[in-house]
Amino acid sequence: VDRVGVWRFSPDRSELFCEVLHDEAPGRAGAQDRLAVRQFPAYFQAVERQRAIAAADVRTDPRTRDFLEAYFRPLGIGATLDVPVWRHERIEGIVCFDHVGGPRAWDTAEIDFAVSIADAVALVLETNERRRTEDQLRTIFRAIEQSPSVVTITDPEGRIQYVNPKFTEITGYLPEEVIGQNPRILKGSQNPPEVFTALWQAVKAGREWRGEFYNRKKNGDTYVEHASISPIRGSDGSIVSIVKVAEDMTERKRMEDKLRRDASYDSLTGVFNRRHVLELLESAMESARRYRRQMCICLCDIDLFKVINDMHGHHVGDEVLVAFGGILRDSFRAVDLAGRYGGDEFIIVFPDTLAAAAAVSLERVRARFAALRIGPAESPIACSATFGLADFDPEMPDLKALIARADRALYQAKAWGRNRLWIYGSDAPLSGLDAEATVGSAGELPGDGLPS
Ligand code: GH3
Ligand code: MG
Repeated sequence: VDRVGVWRFSPDRSELFCEVLHDEAPGRAGAQDRLAVRQFPAYFQAVERQRAIAAADVRTDPRTRDFLEAYFRPLGIGATLDVPVWRHERIEGIVCFDHVGGPRAWDTAEIDFAVSIADAVALVLETNERRRTEDQLRTIFRAIEQSPSVVTITDPEGRIQYVNPKFTEITGYLPEEVIGQNPRILKGSQNPPEVFTALWQAVKAGREWRGEFYNRKKNGDTYVEHASISPIRGSDGSIVSIVKVAEDMTERKRMEDKLRRDASYDSLTGVFNRRHVLELLESAMESARRYRRQMCICLCDIDLFKVINDMHGHHVGDEVLVAFGGILRDSFRAVDLAGRYGGDEFIIVFPDTLAAAAAVSLERVRARFAALRIGPAESPIACSATFGLADFDPEMPDLKALIARADRALYQAKAWGRNRLWIYGSDAPLSGLDAEATVGSAGELPGDGLPS
């Protein structure tokens, strides 16, 4: 024997290719190492039926004749002994022993030997495959163990069989505390019962179910999980286990809440931001118009704020804004809406209220802010704010008209001498002290030529 080759079928079994070749005279080439199965029907029929193909003369043997031009002649092969490699009742490949030269007969001992070589090849293939499957299983298991998702496997009776480390991290339960238990030990009280009905219906019908649960951790805390639950079927079609892959949504929900808050609130002062308060004003005006209700707004602006910034620095200016926002936030009813209109200007919306009534609580805000001292204890800074109020009038075309009136009132109050309230349409401020009296320590008042 001059050449021994192990040939295997391609995955679609349309080709036979040479996987291993031992040649006594290396470098002998010129023949194909890939052969299309359908071109050699006689040979492959024989391979299926016979223990071995012992062709003493490849030119005349009806089983090997077809290969003459493609294979035997270029290599000078005269005789061949081919044995199929059987595995799981299927031929995986063929081991070929080739004789270079003229015809050659094969005796029984040689044929037996060739068959035992083919059996050994089958064993090697099997071992390799098992090793590959084990590697694959190990990879899959590692992925589940290290998964950022909570993975739980239960049997069809609903007993937990497996939980991954993320499960322990989130719930606080060790695997040995939950294996064999029913997952209801995690069940929170906020879940609507329909959720479980729908879930079991889907799983029993062999479908995947997705949804959210409130679960309880070992320490009693609740967490929200988004779960995907699928039944796993065995080879006979029955459900052998149920796999749940879940994400803890608590952090995500917290982020969403924060984003929602960020989208509506001014980050410095904690009151609504301009966009949000104007949206609320728009809808408040709409319902005042529709239900013929009263409403008013107030624009407030911190007095001589530029001076505070210039004399004490921007950070002290910020502190003043924070303090004013704080007073606004705890001075009104829940229905009254305070927002930062921009810079040192704020807007408050009072549904169902006349300006004359809102002025009572605004006067308290004014006095509280004016009494406040900000900055270092040794040189505290006093500040004040001025307030312009305007009542809603159903004749107004839009919110700009209402804001313009409040702005006009604010301007009049500033012109009168700041630190006071003015209601649009009146010809005198409502109350208030002289601006100079409280703003004095913020520095010299710039002569703005306004009457005081
Ligand atoms: P008036 O009494 O007439 O309102 O005088 P004023 O100095 O307060 O004048 P105005 O309201 O026009 O000044 C607003 C100033 O507010 C101008 C700007 O530099 C300052 N400012 C705007 N936003 C901020 C902020 O977020 N932080 C600080 N520290 N200053 C701000
Ligand atoms: Mg100002």
